[in-house]
Amino acid sequence: MIDFRSDTVTRPTKEMRNAMANAIVGDDVYQDDPTIKELEDLAAKMTGKEASLFVTSGTMGNQLSIYTQTQRGDEIIVGKSAHIKNYEVGASAVISGVSYHLIQEIDGMMPFEKIKKGIRGIDVHFPDTSLICLENAHGSGKVLPLDYMEKVYNLAQENNLKVHLDGARLFNASTHLNIDAKEITKYVDSVTFCLSKGLASPIGSMLCGTREFIEKSRRGRKLLGGGMRQVGILGAAGLVSLREMTKRLHVDHENAKYLADELNKIEGIEVDYNRLDINMVFIRTAIDYPNLVEYFEENGILIGGYKGRYLRIACHNDISREDIDLLVAYFKKYIEEGI
Ligand SMILES: *Cc1c(COP(=O)(O)O)cnc(C)c1O
Repeated sequence: MIDFRSDTVTRPTKEMRNAMANAIVGDDVYQDDPTIKELEDLAAKMTGKEASLFVTSGTMGNQLSIYTQTQRGDEIIVGKSAHIKNYEVGASAVISGVSYHLIQEIDGMMPFEKIKKGIRGIDVHFPDTSLICLENAHGSGKVLPLDYMEKVYNLAQENNLKVHLDGARLFNASTHLNIDAKEITKYVDSVTFCLSKGLASPIGSMLCGTREFIEKSRRGRKLLGGGMRQVGILGAAGLVSLREMTKRLHVDHENAKYLADELNKIEGIEVDYNRLDINMVFIRTAIDYPNLVEYFEENGILIGGYKGRYLRIACHNDISREDIDLLVAYFKKYIEEGI
């Protein structure tokens, strides 16, 4: 099957599997795993932070960051469309006991003035605001500009708040901006990024921040059952992700642009070019096709979540130009034959 549903479907590369087979490991709960240490040092270096922690998933990274940087009853400022709010099972309420001040993003950004207004003053009735959460690249496909990140970070500092970045696709953002990831993360206190999406590792994310923050988060990770033993097996794949796979994300972005242009030529398909910053193509079809997903599946192609004429298509390491040409050919056939 050719799988366009998400970049989470990427399988570990041959190089990763070799590295995993040969990884030197130890008990990482005792902090004895040299491969994980190497990975955590590299992730900290690449994000310009003092320290980092290997976690099981992006969700765990985000939720640990909230858990470590808030008190029960606090309010945190989050985008209405953010992954933290919509796709993490309400974990912030369950684990950290915080509530949300929600702001609708425009082009992936919560309007600055609305963030400013959302910060609570001191009043006997109010919860404390403690954290602002940003997402870059945003799930809508947009990359946030650096000057926006800087403005929000300055605002947070003036108000004694922390900023957490959900950077599941941080390296897609830095690839799009053609800068080092640390140029983005210098405007946040903590960041989570995924090794398991476009970077093709089988499992894992990194949480990065100050040494003190990471040591607190290490305890939080244990509390959540995320303390892992000979996890250097996964760390070895993560090292390949950081050293090699970060350098090839531009290929996915170029493929996405190619796919977008080919699809946009088909009558009845409209590409949302405003959201074409990274590896994901968002399209709208002129009419609602009831069996589109099934049709593709019968022809060996997986596309996900076609909802009300909208569809997201993801390019990644396991997708080639030929795969894209095939997808486009089936789209043409489907629409022309009016199936
Ligand atoms: C995928 C994703 C996450 C969480 O990753 P998991 O590893 O699936 O828990 C968080 N934020 C964003 C924006 C994502 O796309």
